[in-house]
Amino acid sequence: MKLRHLVTGGAGFVGSHLIDKLMNAGGEVLCLDNYFTGRKENIQKWIGNPRFELIRHDVTEPIRLEVDRIWHLACPASPVHYQYNPIKTAKTSFLGTYNMLGLARRVGCRLLLASTSEVYGDPEIHPQPESYRGSVNTIGIRSCYDEGKRIAETLCFDYNRMHGTEIRVARIFNTYGPRMLENDGRVVSNFIVQALKEMPITIYGDGSQTRSFCYVSDLVSGLMLLMESNEKGPINLGNPNEITIKELSSIIKTHTNKEVRYEYRDLPNDDPLQRQPVITKAKELLDWNPVVGIDEGIKLTITDFEERMKIS
Ligand code: NAD
Ligand code: UDP
Repeated sequence: MKLRHLVTGGAGFVGSHLIDKLMNAGGEVLCLDNYFTGRKENIQKWIGNPRFELIRHDVTEPIRLEVDRIWHLACPASPVHYQYNPIKTAKTSFLGTYNMLGLARRVGCRLLLASTSEVYGDPEIHPQPESYRGSVNTIGIRSCYDEGKRIAETLCFDYNRMHGTEIRVARIFNTYGPRMLENDGRVVSNFIVQALKEMPITIYGDGSQTRSFCYVSDLVSGLMLLMESNEKGPINLGNPNEITIKELSSIIKTHTNKEVRYEYRDLPNDDPLQRQPVITKAKELLDWNPVVGIDEGIKLTITDFEERMKIS
């Protein structure tokens, strides 16, 4: 039997790559999106395919559908976008997850939540295992997202305990790749666009803060393994190769082959100083390991930006 997949946030960056994999595997896919940061271009190639349907809908409103799997990704992920309307972000996280869990409960299907490393906040423990409970500022500019995802995780586990709803919770660390928005505001897309346009690269703070960047195809295979596993999670999915933001800028400089200048700006409030996932659980329980290195992934991402920027 073909599984019917609902992908919320399916027109976004990660969602559209996930949809490609599900469609290529022969599944039926319902892509649900309100197009806040998603784009029809990302899923255009599937429009007209009888196994694919598009639904314009906002997850803060309930919806009735018949599906077998819910991949709940709908939520802006870039600080610029989630801080644009923080109250809406909190509503999307809480009401969106509540509505999707309600749907999962009603039709008896499994739901995977795209949670985040942001539940660890600015971590005092390094690297971060799933057992770490986090250090999140409840009243800062990142809280709408961080606390939103924390309550979304709580809702998942309470639906599981109270109603037996099947849940899978992935804690996703910084992921990058083709289809990130040019104006997304995240570091990889900012630096690539700036380098290609020969504009100054904007380093926030002194660039010594670290992140661990995962290529999108690796993340999507982790999500798919988690969904079909017997593990509820939470499970960290990310590439443990940790680098400083300054190092990232050098990698992008090398692969764009551009002369770049640097412009230093203030570090945003509550910007985490370091971040690296412990992925022992994903390795042991899902047999998952990221395979795309940063140089290869950045080259693929630059090629995609070059092609899109030529057309736009
Ligand atoms: P994205 O912004 O590209 O995608 C989010 C999608 O959700 C967009 O298509 C957007 O239009 C849609 N959306 C937002 N609010 C909605 C609403 N109220 N109703 C319906 N649709 C809505 O971001 P992404 O990087 O693809 O992230 C996808 C998911 O993964 C998010 O839940 C994010 O929190 C999570 N995540 C991503 C990363 C990352 O580095 N990319 C890291 C951690 C967690
Ligand atoms: N950053 C930067 N310049 C930019 C955009 C981001 O130096 O133009 C920094 C940002 O301060 C943070 C890191 O890069 O320390 C990652 O930022 P991003 O917004 O991509 O993700 P997050 O902070 O949510 O991990």
